[in-house]
Amino acid sequence: MGAKFVLIGSGLAGGLLAAYLGRRGYEVELFERRADPRAGNFVGGRSINLALSTRGIHALHQLGIAADVLKYAIPMRGRMIHDKSGDLHFAPYDVDPSNCINSIGRAALNSSVIEAALKYPNVRVHFSHHCTEVDCDTPTATIADASRSFQVAGDAVIGVDGAFSAVRESLRRKLEPAFSFDESYLAHGYKELTIPPAADGSWQMEQYALHIWPRKSFMMIALPNPDGSFTCTLFWEFEGPRSFATMKDDDDVRCFFEQEFPDAVSLMPELLDDFRQNPTGSLVTIRCAPWYYGGKVVLLGDAAHAVVPFYGQGMNAAFEDCVVMDECLSEFGDDRARGFAEYFRRRKGNTDALAELAISNFVEMRDKTASSAFRAKKKLDHFLEATFRGKYLPLYTMVTFTRMPYAQAARRAQRQDRIVYFVISLVALLILVVIALTVIRLIKS
Ligand SMILES: Cc1cc2nc3c(=O)[nH]c(=O)nc-3n(C[C@H](O)[C@H](O)[C@H](O)COP(=O)(O)OP(=O)(O)OC[C@H]3O[C@@H](n4cnc5c(N)ncnc54)[C@H](O)[C@@H]3O)c2cc1C
Repeated sequence: MGAKFVLIGSGLAGGLLAAYLGRRGYEVELFERRADPRAGNFVGGRSINLALSTRGIHALHQLGIAADVLKYAIPMRGRMIHDKSGDLHFAPYDVDPSNCINSIGRAALNSSVIEAALKYPNVRVHFSHHCTEVDCDTPTATIADASRSFQVAGDAVIGVDGAFSAVRESLRRKLEPAFSFDESYLAHGYKELTIPPAADGSWQMEQYALHIWPRKSFMMIALPNPDGSFTCTLFWEFEGPRSFATMKDDDDVRCFFEQEFPDAVSLMPELLDDFRQNPTGSLVTIRCAPWYYGGKVVLLGDAAHAVVPFYGQGMNAAFEDCVVMDECLSEFGDDRARGFAEYFRRRKGNTDALAELAISNFVEMRDKTASSAFRAKKKLDHFLEATFRGKYLPLYTMVTFTRMPYAQAARRAQRQDRIVYFVISLVALLILVVIALTVIRLIKS
């Protein structure tokens, strides 16, 4: 039997990482503060479906569970833009129609990765167990359940406990002042709402698309679920003249939706109840460094690098972390300190790049997708991608449909954009020169 890993958090990345470690023969004790999601105890408050794309699928594929997971997914081939008059504009994600993102239920995916981990007899998962702190030197996690508090020591403790990680807090205290930490919140929050299935169980809107209602400073999106419903998420300012804060009663909510999303509101019979009952979540970006303490403590997933959800990559990046951690443990064997340091080196620049991309994609989704200039740029992207195969790749394609490191994708997109804008400017200049020469010739004659 190999080393013993104590994992804190059995969310999306925790379950998957436990499976990877279990496959390598390590002893894994995984503690999760919530109840077992497989018993239908999944606590919401977070988006109930997510977009799974190439990086995440690759991580599942490495464990042989991608095909099973994708059975429950709905492929989304492009963005369906809803303008205020209810007109629809479809923009495919990629020139290759087989490139789509997949809407998958969070609870189903969480259950699948936990099942995959539990196939290994050396993995044990303890639900309803909450980590309160970690002693980074020993390394030991203090765990509390409903009746007692106890300590669990291992060769390493891994914090896969999400954006508000208790393990990260212990690491910060241990490494301060050498631990850098930045937590920034958007002025926008989010609220989940539902479009139920039609009476015959079918989807009330196009099923194979991610729907967007872009309204400049805010937006609503909707992803399809296998039961015929859509999960809608409204991203809106917390404060301001028109914001979550100004919704005082049902009439305010009804009036806002009728003005902004008239085609959706007629499909949302539960709107007022959903709006009242569902929590308003906040959107945080977490950047910290380092993510490890020798070979004893390490962070992975949102605990290390939470990003805002507008590129649909937070979970995909967390799954990619698992693949890179697995590679590093394989390359450096028992030298865990080197393995953790190398994992951090390979991931940090890329997840920082993703954090930037995710924030800029919010502006693109809520504002630019509504404009004809945006649609023209997407068509140009697809034309260039088809014409210069393998040479030109739109940023969205590189991030979503390849495993190119995020930082490399961002740099390449900047280079491509510079070339495209240079060529467009040159062509525009040539056209102006031709027009000017023609006018001069006409005047002279
Ligand atoms: C609105 C929204 C939409 C999103 N959409 C997408 C998307 O379409 N595609 C995508 O790739 N990503 C998306 N994301 C991001 C994605 O949800 C996260 O990146 C992903 O869940 C990270 O996985 P994780 O395992 O690191 O953290 P989590 O999934 O948050 O899991 C952390 C786990 O740790 C447990 N835990 C926390 N503290 C403790 C403790 N002290 N002791 C024991 N257990 C603990 C929690 O209960 C939880 O189960 C979205 C996020 C939001 C908010």
